[in-house]
Amino acid sequence: MELRNCPECGKIFTFIKTNLCPECKQKLEDQFETVKQYLQENPKANIQQVSEGTGIPEKTISGYLRDGRIIASSENKNLGLTCELCGEPIPAGRFCYACGQKLTEGFKQSVSEINKKKADDISPEKNKPEWARSRFSKY
Ligand SMILES: [Zn+2]
Ligand SMILES: [Zn+2]
Repeated sequence: MELRNCPECGKIFTFIKTNLCPECKQKLEDQFETVKQYLQENPKANIQQVSEGTGIPEKTISGYLRDGRIIASSENKNLGLTCELCGEPIPAGRFCYACGQKLTEGFKQSVSEINKKKADDISPEKNKPEWARSRFSKY
């Protein structure tokens, strides 16, 4: 048996899989249920409203959304979760559908494109003024 200190409340408890003591784990589950229920009753609430209505920190709520534990209803653009790439409002996760597709399909391609661009930018020939370039190409 392994004893641990709960990082939430500091209580010593028997470690079984989870990091938190049973009380704090229960508390977290209750919080989650509260948020879920609040959103069912107020499907258009934004994170701030949910936080005020439930007394649960906004950070915790957006964590649920990022983890996909809570998925905002399709008409709810108010939860404030946005695609990390294009800024489009999204119901869950980190990227919108389009960016998610781009990331999985075109990842390798876009990386090689970026590398090519970088090479172009640092190529000395391109940085030379027009007259210097044409002079070299003539001879
Ligand atoms: Zn605890
Ligand atoms: Zn996007």
